[in-house]
Amino acid sequence: MNIPANFDLPPHARKALKGILSAPDLNVSLYYTAALQYATAMDLLAQEIPAIAFPLPGDALPIRRAAALALTAYVLAEQVDTLLFGAPQRRGHHCRIGCAFCCWLPVDVLAHEAITIAAFLSGTLAPAKMEKITQRVTALDERLAAMSSVECIRAQVPCPLLDLEDMTCRIYTVRPHACRQYASFDRDACERALGDPDAAVPTDILLQLVHDRVTMGIAVALYALGIDYHTLDIVSALRIALTEPDAAERWLAGEDVFAAARRSARERGDVDPSERDLEDLQSLFREILAAG
Ligand code: SF4
Repeated sequence: MNIPANFDLPPHARKALKGILSAPDLNVSLYYTAALQYATAMDLLAQEIPAIAFPLPGDALPIRRAAALALTAYVLAEQVDTLLFGAPQRRGHHCRIGCAFCCWLPVDVLAHEAITIAAFLSGTLAPAKMEKITQRVTALDERLAAMSSVECIRAQVPCPLLDLEDMTCRIYTVRPHACRQYASFDRDACERALGDPDAAVPTDILLQLVHDRVTMGIAVALYALGIDYHTLDIVSALRIALTEPDAAERWLAGEDVFAAARRSARERGDVDPSERDLEDLQSLFREILAAG
């Protein structure tokens, strides 16, 4: 991929983007695509989407500014990850390899994250192991399907992607933002929370904020492109990505292939989930714009 000529970025962002483009990684390509789509989305919002009609500051948000926002979010996310995993003592995180108390919490993903995880698994596991993990994900999805999010938290079920022998994530390099954003300042509090879902755990709010922004940018871009942008339950979404033929292509084509995995649909029952999520999205837009 090349940087389009009209993709007007400051020099440091352009340099970062060139690095991103040269990395042979699906997620990285997605972030680049997200940056471009986010820019397009913001431009569309300013001009064409009456459903999200609220005052924009001054002129319509320039496309390059929106793109730079998304790119900055990506670069920030990478920097925060380096801070976390390159020098954990600097920020005081207690997170270490083999410590996985948080992997008993439900995880939210966007569709592309489930698709990426499924692709990673099929690219790294032998067919027999792939079959085994698909069966495990399917069984767990059936068990959790009748539960609300609160009930899922209280059930304290380990993520099906956690290797229970050494407590490591099988898909660590492509773990979703919900996992990347969770860093604890107190390992003992995490251990307590595994037995008591009401126990408080001091977590890194900055890290959460950064990953939230990246996720938001991607959701905004997907919304504008008419592609499903809803928050999904990782188990249910992964089941779909693993078992539905051509799930990725169909999702990209605008098909509602991940509808059954919408966490909001499970939780909100009588509210049309698409309307409710649109409200959430609108308030996120307002936040972005208020932050300048
Ligand atoms: S995806 Fe990996 S990091 Fe996230 S909850 Fe599952 S095992 Fe843990």
